Parts: sequence; structure tokens; C-alpha cells
Amino acid sequence: MELTDLTVDAIRAGLVAREFSAEELVRATLERIDREDKSIRAYLTLSPERALAKALEIDRRVAAREELPPLAGVPAAVKDVLSTQGLRTTCASRILEHYIPPYDATTVERLEAAGASILGKTNCDEFAMGSSTENSGFFPTHNPRDLSRVPGGSSGGSAAAVASSLAAVALGSDTGGSIRQPASLTGVVGVMGTYGRVSRDGLVAFASSLDHVGPFGRTVVDVARVLGVIAGRDPLDWTSADVPVPDYLAELDQDVRGLKVGVPDEYFAGLSAEIGDNIQKGLDLFARLGLKIERIRMPHTEYAIACYYIICTAEASSNLARYDGVRYGFRETGAEELREMYRKTRDHGFGAEVKRRIMLGTYVLSSGYYEAYYRKAQNVRTLIARDLLEAFDEVDVIVTPTSPIPAFKLGERMDDPLQMYLADIYTVTASLAGVPGISVPCGLTRCPARLPVGMQIIAKHFDEARLLRVAHAFEKAGGFEIS
Ligand code: GLN
Repeated sequence: MELTDLTVDAIRAGLVAREFSAEELVRATLERIDREDKSIRAYLTLSPERALAKALEIDRRVAAREELPPLAGVPAAVKDVLSTQGLRTTCASRILEHYIPPYDATTVERLEAAGASILGKTNCDEFAMGSSTENSGFFPTHNPRDLSRVPGGSSGGSAAAVASSLAAVALGSDTGGSIRQPASLTGVVGVMGTYGRVSRDGLVAFASSLDHVGPFGRTVVDVARVLGVIAGRDPLDWTSADVPVPDYLAELDQDVRGLKVGVPDEYFAGLSAEIGDNIQKGLDLFARLGLKIERIRMPHTEYAIACYYIICTAEASSNLARYDGVRYGFRETGAEELREMYRKTRDHGFGAEVKRRIMLGTYVLSSGYYEAYYRKAQNVRTLIARDLLEAFDEVDVIVTPTSPIPAFKLGERMDDPLQMYLADIYTVTASLAGVPGISVPCGLTRCPARLPVGMQIIAKHFDEARLLRVAHAFEKAGGFEIS
């Protein structure tokens, strides 16, 4: 096994046994990025000095036989929507092309305090709006499993980096599926915690009532470790919850026998056999592990996409009003007066999808339409959340496909935004309800050949421990390699 393929636990063990140093590991990963990222394009900006400085600090601690922090020496990537002090943060948008934040996001700070080396910032859809990373204002990222295909989105760079060992773990953001969906399309693990579980401080806002920060990793243990590090109350984010964070690792191996798995009928209607067969095999495995499979109903599922796209565009139109050419990054020159400067800056700085969302969001919030769209969507959001909460009266976790389709070809869906929005059909429900979700690999497709399929597991509010436990049991029983 190569140094760059190691899990977090193997890295810790290797450092303690002095098989390699943190510096060697970071250098090996940077070399790999240098070789491989020309074709994958996961990174927008690299931060080798910052990564090496951290690695040297860890090596000093190893030499002094100090207790090592939980992510000691771990090479990590960070989605470019998270602020990093002194390190360019673009949100993959031209409007922030040269923006250098004055502070670190809380999650970035916690990652580094836990010993991780931040290698750089990863590509994504502009302001996290999209499902393929093709909406990046700079270039698309390619799926390491098949370079002609998308890695999913919007956190496609982070997912691709982990899938191709250009980082051991990565942070992404998930508003309607942007961690779970790319995890599924690239064959890695991605978790979105409960809304409020992880601080949003320093996360550039897209839709504030839906935005989450969460980890990618190649194993459930790895994401459990990272989630444990970044979770917990943060006085800098007033929506972060004051709920104790359990020791996720300690609970991973607890028994799963007898747990009830809900399978919503609505999520399987019309699903392609290619995805459906793999998920069914995953459910069979759960049954063999002693979990009870029960069919459940989620009657408001059909409204989830419409509801999500009304709420997220409304919030985005308000959040993105701040990019006016005065306060951040890019300003278009040659304007004669202020309004013209605003207009030109926003016209040249934002890409097509961001403009589409600002227009949609402004429309659904405008007087006369507010009641018809925005207010109604808020009501439907409550009904969708109720569907889930009622289901959790009956079952412990809910299992669904993560995405209705495997990785599609680059360019294939770019002219059809509605088709692109439909890729989120299975992920937006948990986002709207604020409950946690994870995507784990669940085998490969046969046609098109050998593309990863992801299984989504959802749990109730603040029940990430059970979510991770079920995912870990699935992984240990060989569920990732089902076929
Ligand atoms: N694909 C969804 C969207 O385009 C979700 C994005 C996200 O979770 N950031 O809005």
C-alpha cells in the first residue's frame, strides 16, 4: 500500500512506530497531486508551506513522545467555500478570484488544531450551486473513476481528492446533497451532520437555513474521526447547537442487531435497475446482519425538489447581495457611476447558474409572489420534516439510494438545469428536515461499467452515532464491495 492510501488510523500508527514522518507523508501527497491533479483537477489552490509547517510540528511532537492529537499528520483538503486565513478563498467564482480572508473558518481551525495538514482548497460548483462541479467559474473537476465523467457536486473537488488519494480526508459543504451526492459518484464516504451540529462560522453562505459543513473519507472510521473533531457548539455560530458530542469512535462497533431500517416506497418508484439492484443487495446484507427492514411512507417526497429550490434560491438571492464590487474581491473597471459598477461587477463576476438562482430567488421573495411560493414552500418544508419525524417513531434509520444516477458524462446535463436539479431528489429531504445523512459506497454498476453506487443512511436529529454505527457495520460486512 502506498503512503498516500493510508487511513487516519494507519497514519497515526505509522507515525508512532516511526515508519514514516508527517513531513514525508505530506511531501508524498503533494508529489502525487503534482502528478495526478493535471487530469483530475480537484484543487484550485495549494498551500504546501502551511501543510508542511503543520507536519513539522507533528514530527516534533512525535520526537518528544507527546500524546498525538486525533488527526496528527493527516493530509486534508478543504472545499473552497470555507474561509482560510491568508489563503485564497474563491467559492469557485470569478467574483472572489483574488479574495484572501482575514480568518479561518471554525472547522478549518479545529481540523488544524487536531493535527491535520491542509494541502489546499478544492474546486466546487460556484458558491456550491450545482450537482456536478461543472458550474465552477474556473474549470470542471473530473471523476477519478472515469475521467470523462463528473465527480458530482457541488463538493466535487473534495470528493475527487479523497477518491484519488490526493488527500486522506476532506471537508465539504452540503446544502441539498453536496457532500453525499459527490461521495456517491466517486465511491467514498461523506457525512452531513444534524443542522447545528457543526459550526458554519467561516463557511461562505449559500442558503443559511440549509448549509452544513461535513467530512469526506475513504472509510467510516475516518469520517467519524473528522466529524468528532469539527462537531460541537461554537460561540461564533449562534445556530450551532449546545448538544454534547458523543465519542463517535467508541460507539462504532456497538451491536446493530435488532435495529429497524425504514425503506421509503417513494424513493424506489421509477428507480433504474442499475442503482436499485445494488441498494437491494445492500438491504439484504442488512437483513443478514440482523437488522429489520420495514417499508415506510414519506408522502410529501414528490414536493421536495420544488420546495428545496424555492427556499435555497430565496436565501441565496439575499446572501449573495453582498458581492457588489465594493467589499470583496473583484470589481469591474470602467463604470461611470455606482449602479453601473454594481451591474457590471455582478454581470462579469457571476456565472450563469448563480445568476439563474439570484433571479429565481428574487422572484419568489417579491411582493405578490412571496405568499404563493416562498410561504408555501416553508409550509411544505414542515410537512416534509414531519414525514421524517413520524418515520423515526417506527424505525431507527432510513435507507435510500443517494443519487438516482451514477456519474454522468461531463457536459451531458449542462444545457438542462432541471435535469441537473433532479439529481438531488434523494438528498434534499434530509437537508430540509435538518436531520443527519451519510453516503457510503454500495458496489458498482454494470452498465455503464464499474461506476460507484452510493447508499444513503438517514437518522434522527443528533443521532449521528447510530448513523455511523450502521454505516460501519455495513462496511465491515463487505457492503462497500457489493456487486
Ligand atoms: N445540488 C444542489 C444544488 O444545486 C445542492 C447543492 C449543495 O448542497 N450545496 O443546490
